[in-house]
Amino acid sequence: MTTIAERLALAQHRIAQAAGKCSRQAADITLLAVSKTKPATDIEAAYAAGQRCFGENYVQEGQQKILDLAPRYPDIEWHFIGPLQSNKSRPVAELFQWMHTIDRSKIAQRLNEQRPAAIPPLNVCIQINVSGETSKSGITSEAEMLSLAHEISQLPRLTLRGLMTIPSAEEGEKLIAEFQQMQQLYARLQQEFPPIDTLSMGMSHDLELAVEHGATMVRIGSAIFGARDYSQKPA
Ligand SMILES: *Cc1c(COP(=O)(O)O)cnc(C)c1O
Repeated sequence: MTTIAERLALAQHRIAQAAGKCSRQAADITLLAVSKTKPATDIEAAYAAGQRCFGENYVQEGQQKILDLAPRYPDIEWHFIGPLQSNKSRPVAELFQWMHTIDRSKIAQRLNEQRPAAIPPLNVCIQINVSGETSKSGITSEAEMLSLAHEISQLPRLTLRGLMTIPSAEEGEKLIAEFQQMQQLYARLQQEFPPIDTLSMGMSHDLELAVEHGATMVRIGSAIFGARDYSQKPA
């Protein structure tokens, strides 16, 4: 049995190796620990090992964990990385520091309206559907990306940080092509919005390839917390 601390160290090691291979600094890549479906005690174990950024996919589950843990661990940074229905946006606007899956104007507008004035603006990424599969959320063209980015940049309670994607389940050439496309879209967005600094891509099985293609934030779940059991939960 390996512990969460050991698996976290292994994930950090993989990031450092991948960064070294393409002459990047490991410090320029943020590890986001994806704790969806896992108990708060697993988050505490990762926290004790030094982890500070955590990603959650489901509004209610994330809300419960934040209300439980944030008072004791105020330096945890909470990232919402799941699909969001607009009628459920309020807890995300009020409790999270980051939101990775903005894919339409309506969600951006609502989060902007609901973000409390007393806390800093919500950091947001635009989600790109790079594989074009109809089952995936995210926008599918550069023009759409730029127009949504311009809109977000006008919203005072949101800060545009960059792009996020979940590539297709393919491997090899197809996956490489998708990461390359993301790298190009990110470069294009950075021309228009120089302050952006986040390319959120790469998960447990493909983090090396993502780092090679410029990812600045990798979202790692099962490699740290073990396989997820969905039998208790609706997806
Ligand atoms: C679950 C999830 C992850 C983590 O996936 P692993 O394969 O367990 O590392 C990353 N990003 C998103 C959006 C997820 O939903």
